[in-house]
Amino acid sequence: MSTEEARPQSVDFIRTIINEDNASGKHGGRVHTRFPPEPNGYLHIGHAKSICLNFGIAKEYGGKCNLRFDDTNPAKEEQEYVDSIMEDVRWLGFEWDELHYASDYFDQLYDWAVQLIKEGKAYVCDLTGDQVRETRGTLSEPGKNSPYRDRTPAENLELFEQMKAGKFPDGTRTLRAKIDMASPNFNLRDPVMYRILHAEHHRTGDKWCIYPMYDWTHGQSDSLERITHSICTLEFENHRPLYDWYVKALGIFHPQQIEFARLNLTYTVMSKRKLLELVRDKHVSGWDDPRMPTIAGIRRRGYTPEAMRAFCAEIGVSKYDGVIERNVLENAVRADLNKRAARVMAVLNPLKIVITNYPEGQVEMLDAVNNPEDPAAGTRQVPFSRELYVEQDDFREVPPKKYYRLAPGQEVRLRWGYLVRCTDVVKDPATGEVKEVHCTYDPATRGGNAPDGRKVQGTIHWVSVAHALTAEVRLYDHLFKVPAPEDVPPGGDYKQNINPDSLVTLTNCKLEPSLAQAEPGTRVQFERTGYFCVDTVDSKPGKPVFNRTVSLRDSWTKIEKKG
Ligand code: ATP
Ligand code: MG
Repeated sequence: MSTEEARPQSVDFIRTIINEDNASGKHGGRVHTRFPPEPNGYLHIGHAKSICLNFGIAKEYGGKCNLRFDDTNPAKEEQEYVDSIMEDVRWLGFEWDELHYASDYFDQLYDWAVQLIKEGKAYVCDLTGDQVRETRGTLSEPGKNSPYRDRTPAENLELFEQMKAGKFPDGTRTLRAKIDMASPNFNLRDPVMYRILHAEHHRTGDKWCIYPMYDWTHGQSDSLERITHSICTLEFENHRPLYDWYVKALGIFHPQQIEFARLNLTYTVMSKRKLLELVRDKHVSGWDDPRMPTIAGIRRRGYTPEAMRAFCAEIGVSKYDGVIERNVLENAVRADLNKRAARVMAVLNPLKIVITNYPEGQVEMLDAVNNPEDPAAGTRQVPFSRELYVEQDDFREVPPKKYYRLAPGQEVRLRWGYLVRCTDVVKDPATGEVKEVHCTYDPATRGGNAPDGRKVQGTIHWVSVAHALTAEVRLYDHLFKVPAPEDVPPGGDYKQNINPDSLVTLTNCKLEPSLAQAEPGTRVQFERTGYFCVDTVDSKPGKPVFNRTVSLRDSWTKIEKKG
């Protein structure tokens, strides 16, 4: 990450709070954040926003940022997810100062629970989950005190130890904080701190059969790590009083929880539960399917970490939920790849043209500029010969008005090459289908300009038949066909909005030979078509597979205007 990027962004409400804390000396000028994913799935673009925010702030203020796995829910968590999360954070360009697991705090949390029991602030409750819910009250009515609320500390201690020792089946008892069943905030109506769950944990194995709830874990984990600013999404806003209650009751270091609006994007879903469902039901090829909004998916699709960070900086943080247009994300990757991606020529739907006055067997190497946006990228040579592939779309036997590409009698510029004029069309006598197109070239126009100054509007790309590499190209579209796939009528399912045409696979694409050695992950611009990358999973030497990262916006108008 460049120092340019690490400079403070415009001062949003979170940075304002930090600036005020630094000015007042609240934490002695210390800034320590954390990113706390639950390892129950792969990270998505929403997480990228949280990562850029937490790690970005630490960087800007010369502070620290921890990675903490919030692994309190044994049934859903796996090592595979832990590994992928670390890979994704690093890919985004960040490195954690400390690595922690909430499960490392299980002993400490247990001791703290004992402390609250002894102080009469927590009790073992024998109500079932349903009964707890039934007695919780409503928005307008207070809840009912549990009949077990007034157990003595000694009785509670004994029962809690038995819970830990595995004496009771799942769901038969909980440990609850004794707060206020009449609180207007439901989270303070004697929240559950521990539940009984006889389940293997991915790190602690079968050591525990009671597991702490999120609220009983999160603030104390922050406190143990001396996090100064605990940044989370808005749905935790009404958990903050409980967060504060626990750390105050324990008398431990008090981090400040700050909430911001989560990122939502059009044309996708962004919850791990739904993404897991798409993977399990095979609507996509896996967590890293390039159509997925996961970090693994967009990485495989060809997005750059720079583009992701620029996107996160651009959308900023706010207190209000909104939905970001997919375009904003696509423009971020276009802007980045425009600067760095080498231009190459690739024909996706080939049509053969024969330059009848070009000597048979002759090959010329033409100079081509690798990236007009980056002179340092230099030039390369592309072979030109008598038989070339062009796009089927670049030829019309009966051209519409203002069609500046190939058509009978019409002249067009071959990128980096010559002006050619279409002379005739060879068709399959049976089907009438165009088999090939015959042209003549003007030998005086090498490089693309006519010495007599005659105007030729159109420029098209091409690949020499004898030198072409055949590749598979995967064209991706939105995974969902509507902007808000989760807006479904009652009883509906977001999956009914899956776009059946989100992947189009072309298997006979023709690429210029400079791509022969392109390593998996290489990103290029196919001129006039879009940005593409070599697939990291399926591409093999001699059998290349390219993913379309994003199309070029307005490619036509731009090129046709250039003349
Ligand atoms: P999901 O709802 O997708 O399952 P989550 O909130 O359960 O996500 P966590 O692993 O708990 O996922 O999230 C880790 C951190 O990332 C949390 O601080 C959470 O607030 C943040 N986060 C999750 N989703 C988003 C989002 N869409 N935008 C911004 N931050 C997010
Ligand atoms: Mg969560």
